[in-house]
Amino acid sequence: MNGTATHRTVIVVGSGPTGLLLAGDLATAGVPVTLLEKRPHKISNLSRAFGVHARTLEQLDARGLADRLLATGDTITGLRAFDRLTLDLGTLESRFPFLLITPQYEVERLLERRAREAGVEFAYESEVVGLRQDADGVELEVRGADGTVAVRRAAYVVGADGHHSAVRRAIGLDFPGVSVIKSLFLADVRLTERPEDVLTVNGAGDCFAMIASFGDGWYRVMGWNRRHEVPDDVPIDLDEVKDVTRRALGTDYGMHDARWLSRFHSDERQAPRYRVGRVFLAGDAAHIHSPAGGQGMNTGLQDAANLSWKLAAAVQGWAPEGLLGTYETERHPVGRAVLRSSGGLVRLARAQSPALRAVRALVSAVGNLVGPARRKALGQISGIGYRYPAPRGAHRLTGTRVPDVALKGGRLYEALRGGRFVLIAPEAYEGQGAREDRLTVERWASDRRTALLVRPDGYVAWAAESPDAAAVERALTAHLG
Ligand SMILES: Cc1cc2nc3c(=O)[nH]c(=O)nc-3n(C[C@H](O)[C@H](O)[C@H](O)COP(=O)(O)OP(=O)(O)OC[C@H]3O[C@@H](n4cnc5c(N)ncnc54)[C@H](O)[C@@H]3O)c2cc1C
Repeated sequence: MNGTATHRTVIVVGSGPTGLLLAGDLATAGVPVTLLEKRPHKISNLSRAFGVHARTLEQLDARGLADRLLATGDTITGLRAFDRLTLDLGTLESRFPFLLITPQYEVERLLERRAREAGVEFAYESEVVGLRQDADGVELEVRGADGTVAVRRAAYVVGADGHHSAVRRAIGLDFPGVSVIKSLFLADVRLTERPEDVLTVNGAGDCFAMIASFGDGWYRVMGWNRRHEVPDDVPIDLDEVKDVTRRALGTDYGMHDARWLSRFHSDERQAPRYRVGRVFLAGDAAHIHSPAGGQGMNTGLQDAANLSWKLAAAVQGWAPEGLLGTYETERHPVGRAVLRSSGGLVRLARAQSPALRAVRALVSAVGNLVGPARRKALGQISGIGYRYPAPRGAHRLTGTRVPDVALKGGRLYEALRGGRFVLIAPEAYEGQGAREDRLTVERWASDRRTALLVRPDGYVAWAAESPDAAAVERALTAHLG
């Protein structure tokens, strides 16, 4: 690869959901991108994640994919835990006030098709085994199917290579944390009796079980028995799954025909940094946590949405000073918050100490969270409640997520489909000019006087009340060059 091409190329390592979204975004923005994947090409039907939250659906909507994904599963509006604690997702201020239950492979299929159509170069059976970087680029050692190692060079590399990330190791970052659940099982089964709800969850005594409908006749069962914690490689059979499910849910719904049974343990870990020089980490390579709350895939997709437009801006030469650094300052605290909240849920579910059991009893007795606590929990679980740090003195909306507001020409998440910033201006503003490759100008459908500069990932970059044209121009220059 010659120097010029290298300068404009990004290599994404790992074709899980995080890598697929990121690579697709970069290619859509016109950046040459290669996706390296160590496995042969095959999207597994043995899904891990099965819950897609509101903020992820909004990001998919901004890419024209949400409606297609919605057609693959069922939605639920109420989440229940510890018998009586309920969260009503129906009150979310989002176009998607629910949780979509669909297997992870449906998300991957959609993202892969989009990435291919956008021109991503896919290289399967390509395992990253080494990495070096210098001031101008990054060199990867990639082992192919025949065992030979070739060198590939790029301007930037993103390690979206999961839990055991080779990229993370190669840039010298550790992955500190603890094991939160020592022994869980997973099974995909058919049921003779159909559960009343799309998602059924309960814990009783030492057992916990959850059943989710994939909507195509298959059900995911996840559970544990605190009195039977064994290593991941101890064989598991359907009788054990049935037994734990009956103890936790009162019935096993006539489970049969398991297509997949597996044991695993769940860790809680986060890389201390998400970037070293020209190399970034995203998704499970950067953070992993318990499956409680269904946050892993969702958080990885949000990482990708945050990083992709910044990398595109850097490669295309219009990124303001410091923009790439904001990936870590924005996403690392979110990763930490997700670790804390999903870990908290698991600790309550597994409560053994009298103090924790008392907290759980109190939470259950209250039944429904109210006011700010409820809003905070809903915002965290759905992902719509996160905001990014704003500079001192900035407008109060800076850094917040923008909902799908009505515009004269349609709605915001349609306007974001170009992958550009969207300026929602109260007056006719003619400043798009030379920036039309990275800016769309829209008007409010209402007579609102706020000017909002919305980033490609749907967060406010800048806002002002009734600004004059010079102020808008200054903001555009600061953010878009
Ligand atoms: C039981 C279970 C239930 C879950 N439920 C949910 C849920 O409901 N909601 C949710 O949001 N999340 C959930 N998760 C988590 C979710 O599955 C992960 O967070 C998600 O898959 C992470 O995506 P990723 O793209 O970051 O990494 P991965 O999906 O792990 O993809 C990484 C890819 O990198 C490839 N790779 C690895 N090393 C290399 C290398 N050296 N070179 C090249 N390629 C490499 C791998 O083959 C893999 O394809 C669950 C997880 C489990 C285990």
